Amino acid sequence: MARFPGVDYMLIDSLFDEQELLVRQTARQFVDERVAPVIRDCFNQARFPKELIPEIGRLGFLGANLEGYGCAGMSNVEYGLIMQELERGDSGLRSFVSVQGALVMYPILTYGSEEQTQRWLPRLQSGEAIGCFGLTEPGFGSNPAGMAARASKQGIDWVLNGEKTWITNGSVADVALVWARTDDGIRGFLVEKGNPGFSASEIQGKLSMRASVTASLSFSDCRVPESAMLPSAKGLKAPLSCLTQARYGIGWGVIGAAMDCYETARQYSIDRKQFDDRPIASHQLVQEKLAWMITEITKAQLLALHAGRLKDQGKLDPAHVSMLKRNNAAMALECARLSRDLLGANGIMDEYPIMRHMCNLETVKTYEGTDHIHALVIGERVTRIPAYK
Ligand SMILES: Cc1cc2nc3c(=O)[nH]c(=O)nc-3n(C[C@H](O)[C@H](O)[C@H](O)COP(=O)(O)OP(=O)(O)OC[C@H]3O[C@@H](n4cnc5c(N)ncnc54)[C@H](O)[C@@H]3O)c2cc1C
Repeated sequence: MARFPGVDYMLIDSLFDEQELLVRQTARQFVDERVAPVIRDCFNQARFPKELIPEIGRLGFLGANLEGYGCAGMSNVEYGLIMQELERGDSGLRSFVSVQGALVMYPILTYGSEEQTQRWLPRLQSGEAIGCFGLTEPGFGSNPAGMAARASKQGIDWVLNGEKTWITNGSVADVALVWARTDDGIRGFLVEKGNPGFSASEIQGKLSMRASVTASLSFSDCRVPESAMLPSAKGLKAPLSCLTQARYGIGWGVIGAAMDCYETARQYSIDRKQFDDRPIASHQLVQEKLAWMITEITKAQLLALHAGRLKDQGKLDPAHVSMLKRNNAAMALECARLSRDLLGANGIMDEYPIMRHMCNLETVKTYEGTDHIHALVIGERVTRIPAYK
C-alpha cells in the first residue's frame, strides 16, 4: 500500500477522475515500496537504480502518454501524475523517465521512419533499451542554435563530429538521439552504442542528480547510415518540440519533490519541541513558512492540472509550458530551502529527503531551459519582443 498521504489543501483530488487517481496510486505505491527504500543509498553512492527499469517499463511509465508500439496511451494528466510521484521519489528517477519518453520515444514516434519506430519504440517502452538526447554542447547550453556538432554527407553515409555534454543517461544509453548541423540545417541522428567513432564518459563529481547518470558524448568521424537520420525532424524546432514535452513533465514532477519536502517539514515541526516543550509548529514564523509552501504547492497543482487539460485538448503551447516549468521548479526549490530551514540541523542530514531534493532541484531550475530563458519566453509572449540576445 502507498504510505504517502498526498498533499491536497484545496480538494484538488475532486478534479481528477477515477482513472487518474488510480494511475497516481499505482505510481505512488511504486515509489513508496521500490524507490524510497533505496534512493538514499543511490544518491550517496552516485548510483542510478538501473534495476528498477524493467518494473518501470512493465507499469507503463515509459512514454506513458504516447500511443502505439506498446505505449500505454495515457492522458497527459495521468502522465503528469506519474511524473509527480516519481519526482517525489527523486528528480533523477523522473529525469530518466522524462528523457526516455519525451526526448527519445516522442521524437522517434513523431519524426522517425517506420523502420526506426519499429526497431526502437517497443524496446524503449519496456525498458529493454535506454535512450539519451544530445543537444547541449560545451559551448552552447541556453543557445543550442549555435551548436558546433556537424554531420556531413559522405557517399551514402553521414559522418558526425563534435561534442555533447550534460547528457542524462548518456553512458548507459543503447541509442543516442544526437542533434547536429548539416548543410540542410539541424538534423537528428540515432547513434547506437558501440558505433565506431562514438564514445560516452560519465561526468563525475556532481552534487546534484547523483542518482542519475550524466555523461559527455564525443563523435569523431562517427559514420552512420542514412537510415540513422530522423527523416521528418528538420531544424531546431524539432528538438525544441521534444523539450516542450519534457518540460511539461517537469512542471508536474517538481510538485512531487515539493510535496515531499513540505510534508516532511510539516510533520517535523509538529513533533519537534523547543521553548517550554512547545512544538515549533506553534510559532508564528514557522507557520508562515508552512502557509507559504502549501499555498504555492496548491497554485502549482492547479497550474499543472490546467496545463494538462489544455494539452489533452491540443491547446497547450510552448509559452504556456515555459510558465509551468519556470514557476513550478522555482516553487519546489524554495519549498526545499524553507523545509531545510524548518528542520534546523537535522535538515542537512540524509536521513531526511529534503537536502537531496534541494540539490536535485538546483539542476531542475537550470536544465530544459533555465529560469531566465523561460522568463524571456514569457516576456516575448506578452511583449512580442524577443530579448534573448
Ligand atoms: C544534471 C543535468 C542533466 C542534463 N541533461 C541534459 C540532457 O539530457 N540533454 C541535453 O541536451 N542537455 C542536458 N542538460 C544541459 C542543460 O539543458 C543545460 O545545462 C542548460 O540548457 C543551460 O545551459 P548551460 O549549463 O550551458 O548554461 P548557460 O547557457 O551558460 O547559462 C548560464 C547562466 O546564464 C544565463 N543566461 C544565458 N543566456 C542568457 C540570456 N540570454 N539572458 C539571461 N540569462 C542568460 C542562464 O540563465 C544561466 O543562469 C543537463 C544539465 C544537467 C545539469
